[in-house]
Amino acid sequence: MVGLLYVAFGVMDALLIRDMLPYLIALRLVLGVGYVTSIMLQVRRGVDTQALELQCSLGIYVGFAAWLYLATQSSDETAILYYAGYGLIFMLVANLFFNLSFRFALLSSGLITATFLFWALRSNGNSSYIICFSSLYILSFLLTAFLNLKYNRERYRVHLNACRAELQQREVVQRGEELFRLSTTDVLTGLANRRAIDSVLQELWLANINSGQAFGVILIDVDFFKLYNDRYGHQRGDSCLAALGEAMRGAAEKRRYAIGRFGGEEFAALFQADSAEQVLEFAEEVRQAVEALQIPHAARRDPLSHVTVSIGAAFSADVAEDKPERAISAADDALYVAKEEGRNRARIFNARMRHSTESDDLNAEMLRAAVTDGRISAVFQPIVDVSSGRVWAAETLMRLKDTQGRAISPETFIPVAERTGAILEMGAWILRQACDLLASEPELPIVSVNISARQISEPNFISSVEAIVRAAGIAPSRLALEITESGEISGNPEVAQLMDRLNTIGIRVWLDDFGTGFAGLTCLSELRFDMVKIDRFFVQSCDTPRGAKLLKNIIDLVNNCAQRPIVEGVEEAWQIDLVSSFGADLFQGYHLGRPMPRSELKLMLSEYSSSSKILEMQHGS
Ligand code: C2E
Ligand code: CA
Ligand code: CA
Repeated sequence: MVGLLYVAFGVMDALLIRDMLPYLIALRLVLGVGYVTSIMLQVRRGVDTQALELQCSLGIYVGFAAWLYLATQSSDETAILYYAGYGLIFMLVANLFFNLSFRFALLSSGLITATFLFWALRSNGNSSYIICFSSLYILSFLLTAFLNLKYNRERYRVHLNACRAELQQREVVQRGEELFRLSTTDVLTGLANRRAIDSVLQELWLANINSGQAFGVILIDVDFFKLYNDRYGHQRGDSCLAALGEAMRGAAEKRRYAIGRFGGEEFAALFQADSAEQVLEFAEEVRQAVEALQIPHAARRDPLSHVTVSIGAAFSADVAEDKPERAISAADDALYVAKEEGRNRARIFNARMRHSTESDDLNAEMLRAAVTDGRISAVFQPIVDVSSGRVWAAETLMRLKDTQGRAISPETFIPVAERTGAILEMGAWILRQACDLLASEPELPIVSVNISARQISEPNFISSVEAIVRAAGIAPSRLALEITESGEISGNPEVAQLMDRLNTIGIRVWLDDFGTGFAGLTCLSELRFDMVKIDRFFVQSCDTPRGAKLLKNIIDLVNNCAQRPIVEGVEEAWQIDLVSSFGADLFQGYHLGRPMPRSELKLMLSEYSSSSKILEMQHGS
């Protein structure tokens, strides 16, 4: 615009000093067009603003000086004097319109004023005109310089405010980022926390659904970490976890895999993968990285004496795709297998490892919440003495509903509760139910409760049972604990000790499901049980002579070991007739009574306590 204006003022040249017009037109065109083009090119090239401002301020001055010089060469002296007043426009441009910063505006308007005064003093025209024009130049110079200063100050203030606002904005963003980092980092190890890992899982799962890019999950569990904590203290436990986290980070960062702490002594890594082999290979690398640390761990229950990890891996293509958690629970299944097989190893999920799809929806939180949500309940199944026809005892059985109110089978939820440790709370709850029943039914001699190996291995197991018995105010001898024969029971000195202590207190211990596990006989010879429950498999296969003979031999065996048998699973009357002839008189099964709620059992106790209805039933009447 300024360039155009400069050229357009050629009209004034034509009106006032026509004799100089050819020179002035050439000057205006060269300066106006040339200068503007050069500045524009420099702007496009990103030349520094200061350099541009200097050129602009000098450009205005050169435009003025050259114009003044040519104008004064005209022969019409009065016209020149008037025309010189137009030079003030250059000053206005320099100080007000060009947005120049103060020093550059001052430079160009100062030069313009000085040049005009220099010419005016040397010219020999009308002195009163000269005085008037000179003072006009000086006053305009002062006024416009002052306005420029004010304007620039204002601009500077606005600029400062904008900077301040930008700084604040940046701070807010930074604080947000910091908060986000905190909310997604595990404080102890500095790795991603569970929440962050969950969102990585979500992303990988979506990518898998949308583009078919498969992924891998590995779950890493520190072996015997509870024992490590007990032996070395929590502080060393924490630094152990931090060191393990660092080693795992080293392995993961090389491949840019996401790794985090899932909670407790469990870690997880997630990454895009193309094959199950690739997933397992990384799992093995992590295992080796941990083992290479050689952190001493003398409290382990196996021959090793340093910290190791068990790893469960899963490759997304081997898992149902309907929800992202499937991959985690598959890795969890594989982890379980890795531990079962002796720990310090990595195993990858295959379909044979899956317990059932139902158990996928079960998790520790859902099971623990069952007690507070009232989704857990107890039912009782009578154990009948057929020689007297009385209810001799009742077995307590746990029932569970899922969050939608559907019943879940104990075969499904008990293994998950054992694995996740939820069985501890659930087991304590069911014990209280059993003791409550005993307290309210003095007629009922004994109530039994199923106990998992996981509960027995808790150090304060006995004291918690004792506390429950004492709180209910019942005789300890009326409570029986059913323990299933398993590898963990036989040959374990802790179990023998535990049985001794329970014996001293007076609480009974029964061997459950006898004959199903390979350790049954060892159990029977090593440990003294008050009762031995013969698994229902034997009753149900005694319809053949071979099956009947087998059951008879088992009952003989138990009797010969000076222990009493309870025969489980009688579903028909003839089974009782046959098996009682083998020397057993305690029976349990659907034929005598299904597992029932407490109110129904009470009714049964009052009806049958003195009558012979049960005996009648036994004989199928
Ligand atoms: P279990 O200890 O052998 O319990 C007996 C199971 O046999 C019960 O199944 C019972 O309903 C079933 N049963 C009883 N009579 C008959 C019969 O005549 N025929 C047949 N076919 N079955 C009969 P349930 O309640 O489904 O429990 C299954 C298993 O879950 C139990 O086997 C036990 O190992 C476990 N369990 C149940 N409640 C608890 C508990 O409170 N704690 C623990 N740790 N385990 C429990
Ligand atoms: Ca049982
Ligand atoms: Ca049983």
